[in-house]
Amino acid sequence: MKKNFIVANWKLNGNIETISNFLKYLKLKIPLYSQYNKIVIAPSTIYLERVYRKIKDINVFLGAQDVDINKKGAFTGETSILMLEDIGVKYVIVGHSERRFFHNETDKLIAKKFGLIKSLNLIPILCIGESANEKKQNKTEKILKNQLDVIFEYFGEKAFINAIIAYEPIWAIGTGVSADPIYVQSIHKLIKNHINKYNANNIEKLIVQYGGSVNSKNAKSFLEQPDIDGLLIGSASLMHKEFLKILKISNDILCK
Ligand code: PEP
Repeated sequence: MKKNFIVANWKLNGNIETISNFLKYLKLKIPLYSQYNKIVIAPSTIYLERVYRKIKDINVFLGAQDVDINKKGAFTGETSILMLEDIGVKYVIVGHSERRFFHNETDKLIAKKFGLIKSLNLIPILCIGESANEKKQNKTEKILKNQLDVIFEYFGEKAFINAIIAYEPIWAIGTGVSADPIYVQSIHKLIKNHINKYNANNIEKLIVQYGGSVNSKNAKSFLEQPDIDGLLIGSASLMHKEFLKILKISNDILCK
C-alpha cells in the first residue's frame, strides 16, 4: 500500500516543553493519520532519546539530522552512527544544504556518510538540490545528476535500494517561497529516470520527497503530483497544528 513519507526536520529548534507538547498532540491524532503516512520526526541530537521514548509505541519513526563520518574515537562533539542506532534511530538525513553550506560538507563526504548509514541498515535521506544561481543558469539537471552520480560511483547500481531522496531546491528552503509543484514533478521524474538508468528494478519502490517551504496551504498541490512521494518539512513541522493539518491532507489524498 502506498504511503506518503513525511519527515519533520526540527533543525536547531525546540525544548523539553515544546517537544512534549507537540508529541502529546501527535500521539492523539496518530491513529487517524498514520494509515497512509509514514511519519519521521528528526529532532536535534540531544532530544533524540526523549522523542524516541514517546514515539516508540506509536506508528512514528525516529530520524537524526546528521551523523559523523567516524564510528568512534577522539572526535569531540560528534555523534556516531552506532550511537544513533543504539538509541532507536531508523532514518538519517544526509547532505542537507545547511550542512553543505555551514559545515562545508562535500559530495564526497556526504557519499561516505551515506554508505556508513546504510552499512548499519539505517536509511539515509539524501538531500539534493540546486541553488538559485544554478537554476538561473539552467544547471539544475546537471547539478542533481552530479549529486546522484557521486553516490553511484561509490556504491554501484544498488546504491538507492533502502535509501530515500529529498529534492530540496536551496532557494526554497526556509524562504517562504516554495517551488512550483509542476516544476517539482518534472524534477522528480528526472531524478527517477536517472536512477532508473542504473537500476530499473527498484524504481517502483524509490521514494523521492520534496522539501522547501511546505505548509498546510501548499502541501496538497505537491502531494497530488504522481512522482512526489512525500515531504521533508522544516518550519511548518515545528507547530503541531500545522504539522497535523499536513498529515491529514496527505492521508486524505491517498485515502480517496
Ligand atoms: C528543510 O530544511 O529541509 C526545509 C524544507 O525547511 P523549510 O520547510 O523550512 O523550508
